Amino acid sequence: MSPDRIGELIARNRAWAARRTAEDPEIFARLARGQRPFCLWIGCSDSRVAPETIVDVGPGALFVHRNVANLVRPDDPNLLSVLEFGLGELGIEEVVVCGHEGCGGVARALEEPRGALVDDWLRPVRQLARSRADELGRDGVAGDRLSRLVALNVADQLHRLAGLPLVRRLRRSRPLRLHGLVFDIASGRLRRVATDP
Ligand SMILES: [Zn+2]
Repeated sequence: MSPDRIGELIARNRAWAARRTAEDPEIFARLARGQRPFCLWIGCSDSRVAPETIVDVGPGALFVHRNVANLVRPDDPNLLSVLEFGLGELGIEEVVVCGHEGCGGVARALEEPRGALVDDWLRPVRQLARSRADELGRDGVAGDRLSRLVALNVADQLHRLAGLPLVRRLRRSRPLRLHGLVFDIASGRLRRVATDP
């Protein structure tokens, strides 16, 4: 019989809920009343870059959207819905786009497309790599080239965000700050790589 891994997760959840309640008896009653996250986080789906874990916050702090290679695509109704609700309804003022070193999605955009769905999804990154080929270098160390494209990709997504009609409209009347970060899996550290456009 295969091990019941989801059963293990549920058991871990029970232990976690008991621990959190012991630390803060009102935590779940407070969360159940509603959410007031202060930051909207757009990150990569990669399992190693778990947003709440890497910035050490509990539930309720981050409004999260994740996809392959942390892209902001104006044709993505999922992301646009998250932005509409998070910025428009919840009034969030900080938006983070977080890439990460060794991103498999960004790396794939440096290769020839193979006809998979993800190749279509990554088209903007492939176009970015082509348009910034001089900066990336053609025959540098593969890791350095990938690292540079990871950072350029984050900056590119910030520009796309800043250009969205919703973001432009909100920014005329209230604070809305955009932050570009990269997570280094090998050290566990975040760094800023792009300024608010
Ligand atoms: Zn990734």
